[in-house]
Amino acid sequence: MTRRVVIVGAGLAGFRAAQELRAQRYDGEVVLVGAETHPPYDRPPLSKQVLAGQWSPQHAFLGAAEGTGLDGSVELRLGTTAKALHTADHQLVVDTGEALRFDALIIATGAAPRTLPGRLPPGVHTLRTLDDCTAIRSDLLRGGPLVVVGGGFVGAEVAAVARELGLHVTIVEALAAPLERAVGASAGAMCGQIHEEHGVTVMCNVAVEGCDGSSRVERVRLSDGARLDAGLVVVGIGVRPNTGWLENSAVPLDDGVVCDEFGCADQEHRIYAAGDVASWLNPSTGRRIRVEHWTSANEQARIVAHNITHPHQQRALDAVPYFWSDQYGQRIQLVGQADPGMRTTVLTRPGGGAHRLVLFSENGALSAALGFGWTRAVALCRRVITGGGSLDEAVAQVRKAAGMAA
Ligand SMILES: Cc1cc2nc3c(=O)[nH]c(=O)nc-3n(C[C@H](O)[C@H](O)[C@H](O)COP(=O)(O)OP(=O)(O)OC[C@H]3O[C@@H](n4cnc5c(N)ncnc54)[C@H](O)[C@@H]3O)c2cc1C
Repeated sequence: MTRRVVIVGAGLAGFRAAQELRAQRYDGEVVLVGAETHPPYDRPPLSKQVLAGQWSPQHAFLGAAEGTGLDGSVELRLGTTAKALHTADHQLVVDTGEALRFDALIIATGAAPRTLPGRLPPGVHTLRTLDDCTAIRSDLLRGGPLVVVGGGFVGAEVAAVARELGLHVTIVEALAAPLERAVGASAGAMCGQIHEEHGVTVMCNVAVEGCDGSSRVERVRLSDGARLDAGLVVVGIGVRPNTGWLENSAVPLDDGVVCDEFGCADQEHRIYAAGDVASWLNPSTGRRIRVEHWTSANEQARIVAHNITHPHQQRALDAVPYFWSDQYGQRIQLVGQADPGMRTTVLTRPGGGAHRLVLFSENGALSAALGFGWTRAVALCRRVITGGGSLDEAVAQVRKAAGMAA
């Protein structure tokens, strides 16, 4: 009998799991424990609307955005950090020393940004939380130049916002192209080109060695001996799952919480995980994958809530991974599982040179699509990937929809 579900982490996955438990008519206790003091909020606007000053921070609150927030019956414990888990006793220990008993536990502690080694002067930031966003915005308003370390999506969005505010911006990427690891060098170069067209200097094949400055950052030191002037630095070099507090527990860890295809990490003690911290088994490939996307966190949280309330009708994740990014008023979308080694096919929408689609295929099957300002084509590809369709099928559908000759 599940009398009490404790959820650790009050970000998107934790919030959505709590909401969904109630939507599934679970009437036991729900306790949502979150380290941050803000009410649960959405992160995508932190590198977009909130950073640009178009939205107030409150606009990103998950409750406010949906008009409902959490049911009053959910016990929300903000400013509370989980410190240890005793699975055999079904107890979660928090920083006050209190032990919270649970019948089922959902781990939704997300991920934390990596940063540069060594001493970092003020003005060097990472972007994960609302407080990070507020601090970066205030530094952006002091003026640049801005140096973005790493060519990933979050850093790219900060670069775009900064250019729109009129700052001088340089992106420094250690690989041959931004996003090379995710989409390969040629598709990554297309992402870099968008920034260059908007006046950003994109430096590839060079690493950042450190940041100099005493009371504030003044310069960034590069591996080729060059120095870049900097008024602020944003480091976007990836994240690591927040599992440190689980290290002495019996929960299986391997780049995140190891889960089966139902989001369960420990069936006997009813421990589940969802969102950026969770590494779920993909039954069709037989491999585990930890996805750091909004839609995946949202969907996994719903599935876990369903599986806790319907133990005899377990659901697995069947959605194709999906990510979007907004840069310079253009939507960039990635659907499916791209691998840099896959064959790529590029389509350009007639009359719109900036609207392109990169299709990733393996043995003729469509695996992923990366779209630049071409949302209709990405939606078509999503359907083809979901149905296990081929590259040729996707090309034909996209061409037909865009009125292109076959
Ligand atoms: C700036 C930014 C922009 C993004 N933009 C996009 C986008 O455009 N598109 C997209 O698909 N995805 C985007 N993402 C990714 C998306 O936001 C994440 O995939 C999503 O937030 C994951 O949700 P989560 O609940 O798993 O983790 P999180 O949102 O990280 O929430 C985890 C929560 O757990 C708390 N916590 C950690 N440890 C403990 C502990 N021991 N005890 C208690 N609480 C703890 C943390 O403080 C945090 O509040 C973006 C992410 C960032 C940072």
